[in-house]
Amino acid sequence: MSSVPPPEMKNRSSPPSTTPIDIDIPDNYVSWTLKNQNALPPFRWDNIVNELNWLNVAILTIPPLLTIYAILYVPLHTKTCFFSIFYYFVTGLGITAGYHRLWAHRAYNASKPLQYVLAMAGAGAVEGSIRWWSRGHRAHHRYTDTDLDPYNAHQGFWYSHIGWMLLKPRRKPGVADISDLSKNEVVRWQHRWYISLLLLFGFVVPTAVPGIFWGDWKGGYFFAATARLVFVHHSTFCVNSLAHWFGEAPFDDKHTPRDHVITALVTIGEGYHNFHHQFPMDYRNAIKWHQYDPTKWFIWTMEKLGLAHQLKTFPDNEVRKGQLTMQLKRLRETQEGLLWAPDSNELPVISWDSYQEQSAKRPLVLIAGFIHDVSKFMDEHPGGRHLIAKMIGKDATTAFFGGVYDHSNAAHNLLSMMRVGILDGGHPHGLDDKSIPPAQRLRIAQYNEIGSGYGSSAMSDGGEGLMG
Ligand SMILES: [Zn+2]
Ligand SMILES: [Zn+2]
Repeated sequence: MSSVPPPEMKNRSSPPSTTPIDIDIPDNYVSWTLKNQNALPPFRWDNIVNELNWLNVAILTIPPLLTIYAILYVPLHTKTCFFSIFYYFVTGLGITAGYHRLWAHRAYNASKPLQYVLAMAGAGAVEGSIRWWSRGHRAHHRYTDTDLDPYNAHQGFWYSHIGWMLLKPRRKPGVADISDLSKNEVVRWQHRWYISLLLLFGFVVPTAVPGIFWGDWKGGYFFAATARLVFVHHSTFCVNSLAHWFGEAPFDDKHTPRDHVITALVTIGEGYHNFHHQFPMDYRNAIKWHQYDPTKWFIWTMEKLGLAHQLKTFPDNEVRKGQLTMQLKRLRETQEGLLWAPDSNELPVISWDSYQEQSAKRPLVLIAGFIHDVSKFMDEHPGGRHLIAKMIGKDATTAFFGGVYDHSNAAHNLLSMMRVGILDGGHPHGLDDKSIPPAQRLRIAQYNEIGSGYGSSAMSDGGEGLMG
């Protein structure tokens, strides 16, 4: 099947824009494309002049240089400072609530006025049109951590943060359908007028507001337009870098996305990225009320104002399954780090006569069908050596479980570590409390282990075993 071309190649001549581009996608699309699609050779520093995308280099280096100049030489007025922060949130939300959650993920529906505001605010963040941005982001989700993901986190922190824009793309992002966006009039309008909107909302508006209202044209240009742009850029870029590198994986650890409050703080709430990659259609990134997700609060507020509707949330029952799986995984690691009592299958089966014979040579005690070598423990027994000594070669089950003293669970666990054999026919071996140590009654097991090694009975083949 390696000769099947991907649908993009088949349909390249005239794909109707409203037909999903991946409608005829072959089953082997990912492996076929990675193997057969031409990719640029890996980046080399000695060839850097030919490797760079110069337009992006200019967009991503000139504003930071102007910001450094501004910090050193341009006075910052209080009003301009507050306006710059406000405008950072306006344009940042254009990306997070607009480009990302509304258009790339369809996590809610927005009224036309809200869509226009978000499209304009997003243009002010200077990160490409909604169309271009969403197409790349859908590929990012669909091919996470592969070379078909335009900002593949496996290429390194700096590549996923900014390198993927500074360099010529090594290969085309994997196919991702945006036919829904092609039909959207606001998306089309923004794409058509993108350069004008970028100049207007990226530079003219943030320069003019401080200029007209409090006479600070220069501060407006350097802080509200330029420095604010640098912050919005790196804030949203952190979703691709920091959020794929730093933090916890409470929902799934198959891929790189992680949750961390610091990432949330610098990305207007997009930092719960482990959750987001599991449940991308959910309008929330943070599911707990105290977690920082202003983008979610904004969308929720818009709903209350009647400007947004059909906010999507993933069923809580399914979200909790992911959390439980990760908790069980961590518990399983703890479980595997401990030493456990030998299972009855692993112990030799001993006859009563052999037990008598062998306990004459070393201190052996029978409890709940298991034979225990207590030689190292006799002097440490809290009740005294004598209570154990009188049970050597006998069945101490009743004495151990309350007849003389009802031993603690910890004592039962410790006892189980002294097992050296199992008495042939001496006890109905099974899943009863006396033969299973307390610490082994509730355990984490893989689905294919259940019923195989837990509490199974001894292999009573009648033969004589040797005790270790
Ligand atoms: Zn991501
Ligand atoms: Zn996303």
